[in-house]
Order: sequence, then C-alpha cells, then structure tokens
Amino acid sequence: MSDARVGLVIEDDHDIRELVRTVLTQAGFDVTVASSGAEGVLVAKTISPDVITLDLGLPDIDGFEVSRQIREFSDAYIVMLTARTEELDTLIGLESGADDYLTKPFRPRELRARVAAMMRRPRSSAEAADTPAEVPAEAGGHPERGNYSHNGLELSYASRTVQVDGTEMNLTRTEFELLHALLEAGRTVRTKSDLVRRLRDEDYDVGSYISEADERSVEVHMGNLRKKLGDSPQQPRWLQTVRGVGYRLAPSAH
Ligand code: CA
Repeated sequence: MSDARVGLVIEDDHDIRELVRTVLTQAGFDVTVASSGAEGVLVAKTISPDVITLDLGLPDIDGFEVSRQIREFSDAYIVMLTARTEELDTLIGLESGADDYLTKPFRPRELRARVAAMMRRPRSSAEAADTPAEVPAEAGGHPERGNYSHNGLELSYASRTVQVDGTEMNLTRTEFELLHALLEAGRTVRTKSDLVRRLRDEDYDVGSYISEADERSVEVHMGNLRKKLGDSPQQPRWLQTVRGVGYRLAPSAH
C-alpha cells in the first residue's frame, strides 16, 4: 500500500476535470480521472480512493446514482460539484451518501480546504495510531477522552468505531464527526452552523459565511445518521432536534 492519498475525479467537462486534477495533485494526491458515471464507479472499485469529486450532471448515469453505487463499497470522502441551478438538488446528493458539495464556479483553494479538513481526520484505527491508546469507558468508571457511551451507543474516537447495542455501525466520516460533536457537547445544543464549521474544521467563531444550503446539508446528514442508528425523531435515543436551532444529545434513559 502506497503512502500517497488517492483521488478520483468524475467529471465530463474537460476543463473542470483538469482543474480539479491539478488542485488534488498539488494537494499531494495520486489522481485518476473518469469522464462518465459508469467509468467512475468502476475506477473507484479498482483504486480505493480517499477522496472523490463527483459531477452531478454526467452524460450516462447522474451523480446521485453514482454516489449511491460507490457508497456500497467505499467510505471515500465524496464532494459533489454542482451548477448553481442544481444547488437544492445537492441535498438529494447528500442523501445518496455524498459528504459535501461545492457550487461551480468554485475557487480552487475552497476545494483544497474542504479536502484538507476531511483528510485531517483519520478513517481507521491504523491511521489513528498516533492517538494514545484508551481504555474502555466502563473500565475506569468515567469516560476517557474520546470514548463515549450513551444509551447503548459506544463511540471510540481512537478506533473510529461506533456500536449500538453491541453491533458495529458503518458510518461515513461526516456522520461519525457529527455524532462525535454531539456526544462531546452532551446536553449543550450545537447549532447547525456550528456543525457546518466543525465539518470544515474551522473554529466556531471565525465568522465565515454559512449558507442556508450548508445548514440544510447538516439536516440531511443528521437524517442519514438517524436512519443508520435506527433512532426516532419523535422519541430520540441519541439525536434530539432543537427546532430552529440545531441538535443535542437526547437525555440519558436512566
Ligand atoms: Ca457535467
């Protein structure tokens, strides 16, 4: 296995494809490109990319379907690249498993920043080997840093794993990060814009612009997370919606 990160650009427009290829190459990725959806899915299976940029409007199958198919075998960080008129459609894209989106035309440094933020998060326990080993929460009587236990859910930051009633959950990086942010905050409410910044690895008070679509994207990810955990919006075990504001951890069941 090579040390270099692997990137895949799925885009039918030649100029954009080459621009994205350049941005990812400069960011240290080994980049492969594909100009159709079917080719993209096939290549993703072969090269196991860490990052995929995915055009929504492809000549054969659309980006939603490509994302859905790739999610069946890959936990790559998927960024959708969409035309401005398609911005609302991007929410469907996030439902289909993409992590983030950028609206064309975008600034190369914006793409670089998004990818860099996501890559700073380890994906597996092997990549997280720098993090000191931690003992299970129950062993010490109170939780060690990075290990959380709440209403039958166990999250370990070091091993990037989540279990619900002993069954391991298969979460995307984005879903994992959101869940971790809520467990960390406890009963304190996290606003949607807080959570957007968290995903972009920005400080909470930098004052950068968060759009309505960005906030909606958090709602979509939370919806996906809820489905995977089998949580109920009406009687939440973990993810409690604070209407008009954001989210917080549901109360302890005992
Ligand atoms: Ca296109």
